Amino acid sequence: MQDFKDGKLDVVVNVKMLTEGVDVPDVKTVMVTRQTTSNILLTQMIGRALRGEKAGGGTGKDYANIVFFHDTWKRLLPWADVNGGLEAERPARQGRNPMSFISIQLIKLAVADIDYKGFENADYLTFIPVGFFNCEYTIAIEEGAAEELISFEENIIIYEFNRDGYESLIKCLATQDLTAYAAENVPESRLENKAGELADEYFNTETDNFDDMLIGNIAKIIRHMAQNDTQPLFVDFHKRDAYDMDKLANELADVSQRKIDVILRNIFNDSGKHWGFFYKSYSNFKDAFDKAMNRIFIDAVDVEITPNEESADELTDEIKRQVFVRDNYVCLCCGKAQRKGVPLNADHIRPIAMGGNNAVSNLQTLCKQCNAVKSVNEVDYRVNITPLRKPKQELQMFDWVSSDNVHNSIARIVNAFYHCKAMCELRCHQRKSGQYYYVWEIVLFADNNPEWLTPFEKQLLDYVRTRLGWTHVTKIVVKN
Ligand SMILES: [Zn+2]
Repeated sequence: MQDFKDGKLDVVVNVKMLTEGVDVPDVKTVMVTRQTTSNILLTQMIGRALRGEKAGGGTGKDYANIVFFHDTWKRLLPWADVNGGLEAERPARQGRNPMSFISIQLIKLAVADIDYKGFENADYLTFIPVGFFNCEYTIAIEEGAAEELISFEENIIIYEFNRDGYESLIKCLATQDLTAYAAENVPESRLENKAGELADEYFNTETDNFDDMLIGNIAKIIRHMAQNDTQPLFVDFHKRDAYDMDKLANELADVSQRKIDVILRNIFNDSGKHWGFFYKSYSNFKDAFDKAMNRIFIDAVDVEITPNEESADELTDEIKRQVFVRDNYVCLCCGKAQRKGVPLNADHIRPIAMGGNNAVSNLQTLCKQCNAVKSVNEVDYRVNITPLRKPKQELQMFDWVSSDNVHNSIARIVNAFYHCKAMCELRCHQRKSGQYYYVWEIVLFADNNPEWLTPFEKQLLDYVRTRLGWTHVTKIVVKN
């Protein structure tokens, strides 16, 4: 405290220690980082800074900064009135930032590619808002015996598909007498009943309630219109087209993977753009970009199919079919399943050039990438134990392709290294709360020595962080 008084420290942080009996008269700023329902405590806390010049607060001290991290403005007002210095007309507002709200939606819907009922195969822009309705209202919240009024400013996100519904709703409410909903302490149940009726009348409760927010949103609009006697302002999301991920992917479709990563990082970090608001982290952004790229890839592949690809080995369609059926239409190396845009090959385990034949037993299902990686080697990916006696001298890395997920990319590298399907599981989490967010685990089937990969763990980590863009990963562990 002496150092603070002597000016050697700029800031003193304390918990429940400097509320009373401490005198540092020339303190100019107090940051109240805890909330309190006690007026006395609040006065004590901010009182540390409220001694002006005439009260011995130091020469020329005629103001103080009080910084709140919680909205207690309303409670502050009686005090402010006494001193006559602050205007009491507009309470501070709290509420959701529209950007963070959008971000959650995008993560839920676009990034994770979740299929919502009624939205299967929806375009990317379906879940980019067209704008929002700005609602302001005050709610009375009981706090013990006291009642506190808190004002909210919240934005209701509007999409192309629900815009009509909201506009009709507001038009209808404008003709109604909403006095019964104007009081700050109107019971939630009364509001919800009303909102429920309106939801049935103006919305498709299946698609328009995709986020379980419909009733709540309508209730907010009712409150706003009842309390303000105005319609909520519609704020157009002008820049919507600038955030079309499909468009961005199209623009970068012919750019090499390595350059794309640099370009994407620049775009993501560009303060003039809002991708960061929507996605929060670069890996979410990159994920969405990869998905968009994947869609382009799927669309393009219809044209690209090459009939001469397997001319050398004369496999009949029937033999291939038998191999695919046996292998469940899944690449035995990386685990990628056949789908539009991901063609599978029937690969010779022992290549023809090495004396292999066209028997189904000598064939295995591989995706295009794994097949290319295997080249003319004899590798049987139906086997889970490595046929190698000692580890290879180097770990070959392969370029990530847009139809890969992270499991596919890692499995291809690990399995090519062990010359069999050695990788049993990749444990990784995308969410910070997940156990394997920072430390990933590559789990091998029993009898494959995980120590073979030890010299290459750093290389694997670099690959995951820089090539795959999972920069939060700090360690990769290989185990049985
Ligand atoms: Zn594969």
